[in-house]
Amino acid sequence: MDYAIIADSYEKIEATTKRLEMTALLVELLKKTPKDIIAKVVYLTQGKLYPDFMGVEMGVAEKLAIKALSRASGQSEGVIQSELQKSGDIGETSQKQLEKRKQSTFFNKTLTVERVYETLDKLAKTSGSGAVDTKMALLCGLLTDASPKEAKWIIRTVTGNLRLGIADMTVLDALAIAYGGGKEARELIERAYNISSDLGRVASVVVEKGIEGIKEYKVMVFEPIRPMLAERLGAPEEILEKFTGKCVAEYKYDGERVQAHKKEGKVVLFSRRLENISDQYPDAVDLIKEKISAKEAILEAECVAMDLETGDMRPFQELMHRRRKYGVEAAIKDYPISLFTFDALYVDGKDLTQESFPQRRKTLEKIIQQSDRMKPATQKLVTSPKELEDFFEQAIAEGCEGLMCKSVAKDSVYQAGSRGWLWIKYKRDYKSEMTDTVDLVIVGAFHGRGKRVGTYGALLLATYNDEKDTFETVTKCGTGFTDKDLAQLHEMLQKHVIPRKNSRVQSMLEADVWFEPAVVLEILGAEVTLSPIHMAAMNSIRKGAGLAIRFPRFTGKYRTDKAPEDATTSKEIVEMYRRQLKKIGEVPQS
Ligand code: ATP
Repeated sequence: MDYAIIADSYEKIEATTKRLEMTALLVELLKKTPKDIIAKVVYLTQGKLYPDFMGVEMGVAEKLAIKALSRASGQSEGVIQSELQKSGDIGETSQKQLEKRKQSTFFNKTLTVERVYETLDKLAKTSGSGAVDTKMALLCGLLTDASPKEAKWIIRTVTGNLRLGIADMTVLDALAIAYGGGKEARELIERAYNISSDLGRVASVVVEKGIEGIKEYKVMVFEPIRPMLAERLGAPEEILEKFTGKCVAEYKYDGERVQAHKKEGKVVLFSRRLENISDQYPDAVDLIKEKISAKEAILEAECVAMDLETGDMRPFQELMHRRRKYGVEAAIKDYPISLFTFDALYVDGKDLTQESFPQRRKTLEKIIQQSDRMKPATQKLVTSPKELEDFFEQAIAEGCEGLMCKSVAKDSVYQAGSRGWLWIKYKRDYKSEMTDTVDLVIVGAFHGRGKRVGTYGALLLATYNDEKDTFETVTKCGTGFTDKDLAQLHEMLQKHVIPRKNSRVQSMLEADVWFEPAVVLEILGAEVTLSPIHMAAMNSIRKGAGLAIRFPRFTGKYRTDKAPEDATTSKEIVEMYRRQLKKIGEVPQS
């Protein structure tokens, strides 16, 4: 398949902001794609080569791309650099430079998707000494044979700037339209994705085996299941009402979510973002190996920092010290952990995701040899608000964040990849007068003055707009940071500094420093207000106004377990705003 076909599709997709049009264009592309490379094309449309959980990144920095471009176009790096400064888009700059290239293109080969994919794959897997030169040679080879338009998309792909905004759900829609037909097919395809997190595998099965194949699609050990998420409520009465009077309340541990996969003596741990985090937690890997009697299993647990001498739980923050490549052995000693398992999704050949929660829990208890370091989450069946409240206080007293209340009904299945009412979280902050905590992405910063010279004085924070795939500013936050936080943040953010605003960031404010959206912080605010200067949910309540969070304060929690796309959405801020109006008796305008 010619890469030009993909490049043409990208051009058209880029030109539209309407999801339906985008889906139709994607359908067209998928229909043109030969069956044997459908998975590759699906990954490429998302700027990837493999599903995220495999952790393969192309890792081409802007600098390296400029070098390769310089060599392929014959233009000096300096000129390219200043062009880039003007356009702000490395893809467009590449296209322009190659358009100016002297006519030496007669002998060039036509680029195929297969060749582009294989070359990018080699590039991604090159490491060690001399890697930079090899990567550059590979990229330069592609650019030499590429048309200017193709070069634009290749460069955007390798530098992680594809930004077509094709969400996972859009790919699923397109697959259903192109090969499935009908709503039932769409649901089955989505389920396949939710239990494997692998759009490419889903696409190949749909194309090769049709809907019958998708019906047979199975949970597989070492392919992460997309996590089930909880709704939230602020009062025990409301929670029990949702569960028609009865639920299981479980301690909500304040740690990091871990999905453990075990098979043939091998254990892999996935984070909430479905990244492989086994190397950070070799002690957790050993616990799963030793204490889980099942030969094959997929379990979920909260990994909590512990004081082993007193048996007390330590705050989530301590786990930050485990996010490192070197010195893991020392970190294991200084920051030990325990695992509190809360679900079993697959055990010895059996997919449990369609079983009820009480059944899953029973299986979970059967396969664990309990110890101080590993046990099932403490839980209790509650039938009255008083019981729930008392258990909540007990959970808090033991160092938990609150409770996870779970349905015990027959249909209390594991809803992979979705947030629903089968689980409801109940946390301390919802009880206060303040609004809920939110998880916001750092997109910019303002220099500090006085005591804060040399660090950032305030951060520009954004919500995620999951329809547009953009980050919209919602507040400027300078409180709640200790001196240690300020120093740490400065260091953490260094590698994300970019020379200009990221194209996915929507901001009217001009920050002193811009960052690529990467770091997520938990923020507690006093209220949500209409704002002429912030971009969150712009125009959705009133024309010309966005929403802002007033009096934001950093809670001390770095949400390193969240990707920027897992941050609080602009839609959620709209809901908070409406809830707030309801509370004070105003009618929300729409
Ligand atoms: P999201 O709801 O998007 O996950 P969040 O991470 O901010 O957002 P939390 O308020 O932290 O949500 O609540 C959900 C998390 O609680 C789970 O992802 C899991 O890591 C953790 N958790 C702790 N104890 C339990 C438990 N007993 N059952 C389920 N989840 C638990």
